Amino acid sequence: MECKVAVISGDGIGPEIIREAKKVLDKVGQIYGHTFHYTEVLMGGCSIDAYGVPLTDEALETAKANDAVLLGAVGGDVGNSRWYQVAPNLRPEAGLLAIRKGLNLFANMRPAYLYKELADACPLKKEIIGDGFDMVIMRELTGGLYFGERYTKEIDGLMTAVDTLTYNENEIRRIAVKAFDIAMKRRKKVTSVDKANVLDSSRLWRKVVDEVAKDYPEVTLNHMLVDNCAMQLVMNPGQFDVVLTENMFGDILSDEASMITGSIGMLSSASLNETKFGMYEPSHGSAPDIAGKDIANPIATILSAAMMLRYSFDLDQEAAAVEAAVQKVLTEGWRTADIMAEGCTKVGTTEMGDLIAARI
Ligand code: NAD
Repeated sequence: MECKVAVISGDGIGPEIIREAKKVLDKVGQIYGHTFHYTEVLMGGCSIDAYGVPLTDEALETAKANDAVLLGAVGGDVGNSRWYQVAPNLRPEAGLLAIRKGLNLFANMRPAYLYKELADACPLKKEIIGDGFDMVIMRELTGGLYFGERYTKEIDGLMTAVDTLTYNENEIRRIAVKAFDIAMKRRKKVTSVDKANVLDSSRLWRKVVDEVAKDYPEVTLNHMLVDNCAMQLVMNPGQFDVVLTENMFGDILSDEASMITGSIGMLSSASLNETKFGMYEPSHGSAPDIAGKDIANPIATILSAAMMLRYSFDLDQEAAAVEAAVQKVLTEGWRTADIMAEGCTKVGTTEMGDLIAARI
């Protein structure tokens, strides 16, 4: 298969972790007979340095012309970098918002998986962790409270602030379809999270999700109120497979879910649109404090590349091979500094990439 990938290395540790992800993809290509064609795209601080803006129109068009985007991270040291001495719309992270909008990425997907080798980093008690957990939070990314009408004004002599939570049925349907499609590639269970006992938007959410579920008879659907879900995540995380929810609930729950895995360098993510196109990136930032030192953990980016194989290219076997290679390296006791534990062997970014690629 020929796979066209726009690569945004970005800033800080971005170029180092992307280099390792490409190394692993190239090994996949070699073993399974695929070719990855990479086109480098500038975004973030490096684009500001080159063009004065965090994302040019040409860069966005290049991203669109590919089948998927693999992104490292953008941004610098917020307190010190000159990239932050300008208006917010010209800062590195503005590139991220612009590309998400430009590519119509409405579905954000963040897996939370606990490797038993890293269970000590999980803040939950052992009896709660049980056999571990393996879930995906599917968050609607372009609607809801963060995008609704808002204003602050004086009403009857009192300063009053209003935010509006709006969803139409199409916005709900398209993210629900994504969640069920993804559940079909996993353990076939969707938990839809809302606040239907209070919010109209949640009642519509529940109705539309029920309708979509009819097209997926193999998938088990249950509905859960968001307050209960926040509790269940720390009481019984093993019960979840795909958690489907709206923008603000997803913002909060995905952070909670990633916290209980305990290791930021391991967390992948994807943002998807209605086609097979997706943008794949680690959940962490550009870590300027450790950039250029060959100590960053490349695993989140490598696992993001595995997601790209599965969801944009339908290369499920190849994705599983990457995940198995990561698992093997951890089982053998290799660790980057951020996940180092007693009795393990510490390696740098490059060596971690070599070890994973060698196990494909
Ligand atoms: P961060 O995630 O970059 O770093 C937080 C801490 O985790 C740091 O101590 C860092 O060294 C460590 N860390 C992060 N990734 C790691 C890895 N792969 N291996 C080992 N350690 C790792 O968050 P921050 O410090 O708040 O932000 C730094 C910059 O990144 C800022 O400019 C911020 O705006 C940007 N940022 C970008 C994205 C993105 O590109 N999607 C996301 C979040 C933050």
